[in-house]
Amino acid sequence: MDSVKILGVPFSKMTLSDTVKLLQGELAGEHRSQPGPFHLITANPEIVMAAKQQPELRRIVDAADLITPDGIGVVLAAKWQGTQIPERVTGYDLLIRLLEGAATRGFSLYVVGADEETNAKAVGIIEAKYPGVEIVGRQNGYFKGAQEEELVADIERKRPDLLIVALGAPNAERWIYKHKSRLSAKVAFGVGGSLDVIAG
Ligand code: UDP
Repeated sequence: MDSVKILGVPFSKMTLSDTVKLLQGELAGEHRSQPGPFHLITANPEIVMAAKQQPELRRIVDAADLITPDGIGVVLAAKWQGTQIPERVTGYDLLIRLLEGAATRGFSLYVVGADEETNAKAVGIIEAKYPGVEIVGRQNGYFKGAQEEELVADIERKRPDLLIVALGAPNAERWIYKHKSRLSAKVAFGVGGSLDVIAG
């Protein structure tokens, strides 16, 4: 994969469209035999800086399958290094493009995060607008204790094609990494405030 390192973080140089194609390929394929999903991180400059200081975050970033530039700061940093990153590739844009693509090739989706009202509303809108998407589970982002175990077990059982996690960055990335071996999705990524945007 063609990438450019910024403060030690290897950023993909793919366009949004090429990244969507790559993820669609993962969604259309089999579940991976190795534990855990294809973990995409859309990283902004804050994550890059934090990964420099926090070894725990560094491990999460190092273990990711793909890191895309989420923020113009990353695109500019590449430019200063004399490399071209074509454009920002954000969680929201990826999510919308994947949902749109479901009209041609459907997939199942598990939606984690945001408050209960936002989560329920966003799920309703996705179901109405993108009939090719089968929502197999949802959970708001304010779970704790036994609820968290139930959530992980439910994802493990349902084996969704795509898992999206809206817990804020880098909490979503931490959560995916922590439970990776049991998150039996083909692809997982954090989507920041996307559910709030979808719910309006
Ligand atoms: N969120 C959540 N649980 C938490 C903290 C945040 O579900 O414990 C949700 C919040 O409701 C919002 C989303 O995380 O829907 C993203 O928040 P924010 O826009 O602050 O994240 P960022 O864009 O910085 O990743």
